[in-house]
Amino acid sequence: MSRCLFSSTLAGSLPKPAWLAETGKLWPRWKAEGAELAQAKADATLLWIKAQEDAGLDVIGDGEQSRQHFVHGFLEQVEGIDFEHKVKMGIRDNRYDAMVPQVVSALRLPGRVHAAEARLLRAHTRRRIKFTLPGPMTIVDTVADRFYGDRAALAMAFAELLNQEALALQADGVDIIQFDEPAFNVYMKDAADWGVKALERAAQGLTCTTAVHICYGYGIQANVDWKATLGEEWRQYEQVFPALARSRIDQVSLECFHSHVPPDLMRLLDGKDVMVGVIDVASDAVETPEQVADTIGMALQHVPRERLLPCTNCGMAPMDREVALRKLQALADGAALARKRYG
Ligand code: ZN
Repeated sequence: MSRCLFSSTLAGSLPKPAWLAETGKLWPRWKAEGAELAQAKADATLLWIKAQEDAGLDVIGDGEQSRQHFVHGFLEQVEGIDFEHKVKMGIRDNRYDAMVPQVVSALRLPGRVHAAEARLLRAHTRRRIKFTLPGPMTIVDTVADRFYGDRAALAMAFAELLNQEALALQADGVDIIQFDEPAFNVYMKDAADWGVKALERAAQGLTCTTAVHICYGYGIQANVDWKATLGEEWRQYEQVFPALARSRIDQVSLECFHSHVPPDLMRLLDGKDVMVGVIDVASDAVETPEQVADTIGMALQHVPRERLLPCTNCGMAPMDREVALRKLQALADGAALARKRYG
C-alpha cells in the first residue's frame, strides 16, 4: 500500500469513555471486570476506529483502550514481575511519583499481550494500522528493579520480550509498530549509549514499518511544570537523534507545535520519516486546520515533504473525550489543507 502525501496519524492513546474507565487519569480504574471488561474494551476500540476513520486519518490505531497505562499494560503479561506489591517510585528522573510493579525474577513472556486488540483493529479497518508498545528504556524507568541490578541489562531483557510480541503483531497484520520512549528525552546520554541499541533489539527482524515516539510527556501538571524549567530552547532531541538516524528504525515521532524544540533539530533525522507533532495535547484549545497546515509548512523547511507525517505531540489518554475528537478532526483537516497548499 502506498501512502498519500502528509499521511496523518495519532501518537497513540485516546481517552477512554466514562463507561469503560475513570476519566481524566493516567492510571484510571476500570468500570467492569472479567468478560464484561473485555467486551467493553473491544467496544471502545471499535468506537475510536470509527472516529479516526470519520475524521479522515490515514493510519489507524486502537487508541490503547485495552491498557490501563501505556507501560504497565504490557507488563501485566510478563512473568517475573510482581504486580501485587507495587511500590511508590519517582519516575522520569523524579519528575513525578508513580506506583510501580517490581521485577523480582528473570523475565519471560509466556504468551501474547495484544493479540485481541490487534486482530480487532485489523478486522475493522482497511486503512494502514499502527500498534504502539512501550520502549525498553521507558519500561525500565517505570518499574522497580529488584533482580537485574543494571538498567541496560534490564532494558535488553525487556527488548527481547517486546520483540517477541512485535513479531506476533506483525503476523496479525499490523503495518507500523511504534515504540514509545519518552525516557529518551530525560536520560539523553543513556539513550544514545544503550537506549537506541535496546530499541533496535526490540525491532529486530521486523519487516513492517518501525517507529519510535519521543516526547515531553502527557499534558499532566507535573509535565507542564517540568517543561517550564527547560528554558527557551529544548535541545534534548539533539543528543538522541544522531543515534536514531544511524539506527534501523524507520520513523521518529517528535513534539513540535507549542513546544520550544528548535525546528532545525529535525534535520538530524536525515533519511527517516518524521512524524511532526502538529497537535498540542497539553491544551484543550482545539487547533484550526490553518494552524496545523502552518506547522506543516514550517516543518517543510527542514523535512522533505514525502517524509513528513503530521501527528499529535503525544497521546491523548487523560484528555476530555470531546476535545480529543475535535483535535482528531483538526489533524486530518489540517493535513488535507497542507496537501492543497504544498502538494
Ligand atoms: Zn508521548
